[in-house]
Amino acid sequence: MQEKREIIWEAIHSINSSGQLSHDCHFKMFTFAGMNITIDNQSGFCFGVVYAIQMAEDELNENGKLYCLGDIVHNNMEVERLQKKGLVIIQHQDLENLRDCKVLIRAHGEPPSTYEIALRNNIQLIDASCPVVLKLQNRIREGYEETTENNGQIVIYGLEGHAEVNGLKGQTQGNAVVVMNEKDLDAIDFSRPIKLYTQTTKSTSGFLAIKKAIEERLHARGNHELLSFEANDTLCRQVSNREPQLEKFAALHDVIIFVGGRKSSNAKILFEACHKINHNTHFISTPEELDFTLLEGAENVGICGATSTPMWLMELVADRIKQQSISLHA
Ligand code: SF4
Repeated sequence: MQEKREIIWEAIHSINSSGQLSHDCHFKMFTFAGMNITIDNQSGFCFGVVYAIQMAEDELNENGKLYCLGDIVHNNMEVERLQKKGLVIIQHQDLENLRDCKVLIRAHGEPPSTYEIALRNNIQLIDASCPVVLKLQNRIREGYEETTENNGQIVIYGLEGHAEVNGLKGQTQGNAVVVMNEKDLDAIDFSRPIKLYTQTTKSTSGFLAIKKAIEERLHARGNHELLSFEANDTLCRQVSNREPQLEKFAALHDVIIFVGGRKSSNAKILFEACHKINHNTHFISTPEELDFTLLEGAENVGICGATSTPMWLMELVADRIKQQSISLHA
């Protein structure tokens, strides 16, 4: 409760003397039939996703067809929009059978094995790996080279099997230990040096909890072993900086409609950030999933989303709420 009050206080202080929201609160507001509907303008695609989609659209506009390895973004509606323009989603097993064509690598990045297959099969890769992910891949590769010299190990805090994690693990010839929770720590050899990294889209609190749990296990073996533990916060600030901003946004509204893809890792994190502050936060993936009974009696409705949620989709949700409130008051 105290936490919520502080966030509301901060949010109120971002409204200037003329009642306008100041520059660090970028909201888009409409009022319909007594209901204020506000879209959080800071939600929506991060630069990594914008870059990947731009590269895909440029290619599609020129050639009308492009293969993409995995969903270009964890948002079905955006994927469908691009499929209508000629994007063909393929899986890793399909890559082996393709020859002499162009394939887009999405923002999550890929392991070295993907580049090897492309070279063998004369596939031209359009590499839209996010620069933040590429930098992390380089760090892990260098860290792995160091740890192989001193009998250490690479630990990645992330989701086993997630595309980005596959790309990161690939920098260690598949030897990194991937952990999501305390139970997974049993796979770490605590007698050897440890370098910890994190998938870019995990939460700050989750990373700190894993770091602490590793430190506690090392403490239990004797303090000196902490010297051989290096924890690298490699979270993407495009996600972690949105958490506090969304907490403020959630505190300002009676109901929050969070729009995100169900496969999106950052959608889960950012939804939780809103839900922690405002329990009237509801997750939807399409405007059709909107349950209008949840909005009954609400004066202020906030719409926000993940780094993989297109702004046009949040606008469609706002339009649907507007239409519903117009028809109810006609
Ligand atoms: S969330 Fe960060 S790391 Fe992931 S694509 Fe966006 S900018 Fe890149």
